[in-house]
Amino acid sequence: MDKPDSERSKVKVAVRQRPFLHSSEREEPCLRILDKQSVSIMNYRDRRESVVYSFDWCYGPDNSQQELYEEAVKPELSHVLRGQNASVFAYGPTGTGKTYTMVGTSGNPGVIPRAVGDLLHASQATAQTKLWAVCISISYLEIYQEKVRDLLDTNKQDLPIRQDRNGAILVPGLTERVVDSYAQFERIFMAASRHRMTASTQLNHTSSRSHSLLMLRVVKTEQVTPFRRFFGKLHLVDLAGSEDNRRTGNSGVRLKESGSINSSLFALSKVVDALNQGFTFVPYRESKLTRLLQDSLGGSAHTVMVTNLAPEQHFLFDSTSALNFASKSK
Ligand code: ADP
Ligand code: MG
Repeated sequence: MDKPDSERSKVKVAVRQRPFLHSSEREEPCLRILDKQSVSIMNYRDRRESVVYSFDWCYGPDNSQQELYEEAVKPELSHVLRGQNASVFAYGPTGTGKTYTMVGTSGNPGVIPRAVGDLLHASQATAQTKLWAVCISISYLEIYQEKVRDLLDTNKQDLPIRQDRNGAILVPGLTERVVDSYAQFERIFMAASRHRMTASTQLNHTSSRSHSLLMLRVVKTEQVTPFRRFFGKLHLVDLAGSEDNRRTGNSGVRLKESGSINSSLFALSKVVDALNQGFTFVPYRESKLTRLLQDSLGGSAHTVMVTNLAPEQHFLFDSTSALNFASKSK
């Protein structure tokens, strides 16, 4: 159900700067988190005078996975449990912490394990009331060179995208697995991620050149009259690196790859722009990524964009473009 314009949710934007990766690094960081809502970055022309940007949340090296999750992501879960759609994206150049933010490590879990854990927890608590039954299922896919690949069944390499009469986006043939415990989720997700990693070493680091989408579907069914049913979806997206590969002298296959990455990220920026400006025409069909997310971006859906940035000066140009993208997304 669409909300009136005044209630439409805008894209919320968080920025996250990772720490330097080696303690021997002494160079001056090219960006600095000034406070909870602003970040400054060197002007890439003279590397001196800095430019300040403001966002909903700004996180630096001292902010934990938990802080980012609790503030920027967790509030979305209640929308999903009420039958709305939400998506969380990690955007930014390769090497800045997108996968760290979304997946994290075993000691420092990121958005995906935390969100799945909390959804399972909420659904068990709800089920205990006996008034509702909650079913959570996952699908996991990757978009590589404009092809949708099933990460839970690697025989499915080029799946179609369709829209049903209610406007819901479907991927016919995509594997969907019901999960009722965290251990079960972990087994499925680890196997798929391991597979993705092997494939990526064989294929020139596919992972930085593809978008991966974990879809969590939550179906909540009332157990007494009037037996209402709510369908909510949460998309957790680790986007392809936003760096402009054309500058790095790639050719052949690589160039074709970066072409399709850049065009789908560009399509994403146009969609976000159109939504924020309140345009009636939103160009969802310009890429597989935006097509897949059509029912989870805009309308009554909730979107959080986490822009990952690195402090090293050689990231300055790409970080500046990422911040420009992020600040257009607000
Ligand atoms: P991306 O997915 O954007 O290419 P990664 O998530 O792989 O980047 O991060 C690159 C490196 O930086 C990894 O070694 C990762 O563990 C580390 N890293 C990223 N963000 C943080 C952070 N906030 N704190 C500590 N280490 C981080
Ligand atoms: Mg990554």
